[in-house]
Amino acid sequence: MRKPIIVGNWKMNKTIAETVDFIKAVDPVCHDGATYGIGAPFLALAEAVKNASNLIVAAENCHFEDSGAFTGEVSVPMLEEIGVKYCIIGHSERRQMFGDSDESVNKKAKRLIAAGITPIVCIGESEAQYDAGETESVIRSQLSGSLADLCPNCVKNIVIAYEPIWAIGTGKSATKEDAQKCCHIVRDQVEQMFGKEAADCVRIQYGGSVKPENIVEYMACEDIDGALIGGASLKADSFTDIINKTK
Ligand code: 13P
Repeated sequence: MRKPIIVGNWKMNKTIAETVDFIKAVDPVCHDGATYGIGAPFLALAEAVKNASNLIVAAENCHFEDSGAFTGEVSVPMLEEIGVKYCIIGHSERRQMFGDSDESVNKKAKRLIAAGITPIVCIGESEAQYDAGETESVIRSQLSGSLADLCPNCVKNIVIAYEPIWAIGTGKSATKEDAQKCCHIVRDQVEQMFGKEAADCVRIQYGGSVKPENIVEYMACEDIDGALIGGASLKADSFTDIINKTK
């Protein structure tokens, strides 16, 4: 039985003070029906960890090297030190704007797993790939690169977020049928790479214009175990609404 996992990805939003205010409002509303969390900017992570009892706290990126001449980067031991337990990697914005690739995502996943931090591995096709009918091949190839050589037992515990790029921040969410079909392809690819047990255990999120009005229909889909939520995770009210709708 997979426990649902719903995580807000704040991207480059919220100061430390705003983070603490949000957590004070939302943390008490969380319940055991699912794992709830927020992905916050690096600067706010330490205070987020200190203030959250129920919400899990995720970084939005990391470097795969432990230290060195990588100006502006943050390493996994730095996240470990402040008690971060999850880390989003390979988000399409990082792939498009900051040069993240399946290969670097794979290195980050391995380093996080070694530290006991759960990677939330993001994948998803662009609008042009969707229009060209390449969605399935893009999903399979991103997964085979991003998850290459992980141990099947480790894969059981990771989270994969399927986020079609054309649905991110556009209000143009995938239909529940399309989202289910793609999350099923994700699970099938995990089964091909790591076997049935890993595929049965791995938690798969849909992301892309998820909001209080559509969360319930996505959560009802067989292969969708949660959501990665941008815009609708920024306001305590709408994230609380999502929490209450997934009891
Ligand atoms: P929106 O929910 O704003 O579409 O963003 C999705 C996303 O990128 C989550 O990682």
